[in-house]
Amino acid sequence: MKRVFNFGAGPAMLPTSVMEKARDEFLDFKGLGAGLIEISHRSKEFDAVIDRTDSLFRELSGLPDNFKILYVHGGAQMQFSAIPMNLIDRKPAHKAAYLETGNFATLARKEASRYGNISVAATSEATNFDRIPDFDPASLDADTSYVHLTSNNTIFGTRWNEFPDTGSIPLVADMTSELLSRQLDFNQFGAIFAGLQKNLGPAGMALVLIREDLLGKALPYTPSLLDYSVYEKSHSLQNTNNTFAIYMMCLVLEWLKEQGGVAAIEARNEMKAKLIYDAIDSTDFYIGSAFKRDRSIMNATFNIAKPELADAFLKEADKQGLYALKGHRLVGGIRASIYNAMPVEGCEQLVAFMKDFERRNG
Ligand SMILES: *Cc1c(COP(=O)(O)O)cnc(C)c1O
Repeated sequence: MKRVFNFGAGPAMLPTSVMEKARDEFLDFKGLGAGLIEISHRSKEFDAVIDRTDSLFRELSGLPDNFKILYVHGGAQMQFSAIPMNLIDRKPAHKAAYLETGNFATLARKEASRYGNISVAATSEATNFDRIPDFDPASLDADTSYVHLTSNNTIFGTRWNEFPDTGSIPLVADMTSELLSRQLDFNQFGAIFAGLQKNLGPAGMALVLIREDLLGKALPYTPSLLDYSVYEKSHSLQNTNNTFAIYMMCLVLEWLKEQGGVAAIEARNEMKAKLIYDAIDSTDFYIGSAFKRDRSIMNATFNIAKPELADAFLKEADKQGLYALKGHRLVGGIRASIYNAMPVEGCEQLVAFMKDFERRNG
């Protein structure tokens, strides 16, 4: 069996050693004679898994003690509903401000509009989200319940290098496509959420990190299983949770620890992204899609100066085991998603292919 270098944006590649460990333990979890997904979410075996996932996450991320870790159903977009339901009632005006930097930010803003008075505090829509827009937190109304941003824009290949200081108004970040890829100062945020399927594990669940003083203020009609305080009180086990996803995340965190932790993976991620961006910038054959200042180190987006060559590029890349490089339809061209699990070698092979393709078609 040959494993490809999977550049897909999500669900995305997981470290091969993690997939092997899950395979090896699948039928017989630690000598139990049953697989973990066959036993109770209230068993002592699963309890140990979720406890270990919490403690590894805290250790690796440096999450402060006043933040709670929740494992919430429904992936990232379910949090587009849960965030306003849990936070909009903080202030009577029911206001929230959204920073629009891409498709997921827009979807989050539209969903929130069902629950409160939502404004767009800054947007880069006019330039097809090729950059992070200027934003002055002083422009926010004091009675704003929270501010929402998307820290890494998976489709457009941009990221917030620095986060705005919103003072006493909690900053909420969708970090689905970059959590644990870079070091963070959690004190800049009120809440962070991430679907697991990019850097953390399988799809269908989100990790939510929330400052404890923000819990317990959900709108009265919030479904119990979207109320973050219900997750907090039950250690995310109010009902049967996705034990397999939490277990896979645990394995990914163990792998990350073996890699040297977040600082080490961040340095490696920067190096991987630089390989690709240097290849783009060294020629007129390729054109980067995002503003250089705001480039993502998780999703590198680019086009070919002759866009009619993109199909051939993708077909040939695929033949060489460079899988799923097609850009999102909103940007076109090529997107290399290079999450934590992508080895340096995958980026090197992509760059070698880019140079070879240019030599033959330039
Ligand atoms: C992938 C992605 C999502 C969508 O996640 P789902 O789990 O499919 O809802 C949302 N936000 C960002 C930034 C993403 O990259």
